[in-house]
Amino acid sequence: MPEAPDLFVIRDFLEPKLVGRTVTSAAERKPLVLRNMTGEKFADDIAGRKLTKIDRKGKLLLVELGAERRLVISPMLTGGLRYCSPEDRMEASTILVFDLDDGHQLRYFDQKRMGQVYYLSPDQLGEIVRLENQGADVLDEPMDLDEFTAALKPFRGEIKGILTRGQAVSGIGNAYADEILFEAKLFPFRKKSKLGRTEMKHLHEAVYAVPRNAVSILEDRVGDAIHKKVRDFLKVHGKGGKPCPRCGSRISAIKANRRETNFCRTCQPGTMFD
Ligand SMILES: [Zn+2]
Repeated sequence: MPEAPDLFVIRDFLEPKLVGRTVTSAAERKPLVLRNMTGEKFADDIAGRKLTKIDRKGKLLLVELGAERRLVISPMLTGGLRYCSPEDRMEASTILVFDLDDGHQLRYFDQKRMGQVYYLSPDQLGEIVRLENQGADVLDEPMDLDEFTAALKPFRGEIKGILTRGQAVSGIGNAYADEILFEAKLFPFRKKSKLGRTEMKHLHEAVYAVPRNAVSILEDRVGDAIHKKVRDFLKVHGKGGKPCPRCGSRISAIKANRRETNFCRTCQPGTMFD
């Protein structure tokens, strides 16, 4: 679920609460998500370490635990974080629990266990391909149109897939890719090689405008409920069958590549063979 706008707001919320705190204990409640690369026993190794910095890079959160350890959280589609009291009900999807020295808990949950949480030393960060291969963050200083066109140049195929892969620009997932393509009036399965200069210009504008606009909405709406996804304000994503806010046609929902794509066939015309 979390994409750059979500994680931007989650990071801003967590930073003042976590930085300076010490992890008193940690528990791995379910396997397959934590990738402990340290060679040490996770719970023993992390206990007593202080959280010194929270960063975000694209769709990943980077937690610094002093000079020797890092947590890299890649929540993918169904992962998320919850900051709460130990007395709060433990959801069945909870994977990792960190007890903090101020009595709070940080929990990582993931219904489908598609995400990964890496525990490693800083010199191992280069082994996380998803981190190293990322393009410039979509919420950083925008590229100009020529730079953007050049960043997309090495990638082939459908425009939505290129956006969500994160190597040209990072931080865009399934939801915001749908929103960006709706804003740019582009058919999501259109081949990038077929985009003309004007279409590229519209795409460039939407790539930077849509996530920024979302951040300002999420900043008002999320508050301390960082574990809940706020997506109701999106225009097409998750709105299959509802009227298009621009033209009133029914929003399409197509399942492809194991995910749903929503778009308006009237505003974003095209065929799979374009
Ligand atoms: Zn429409």
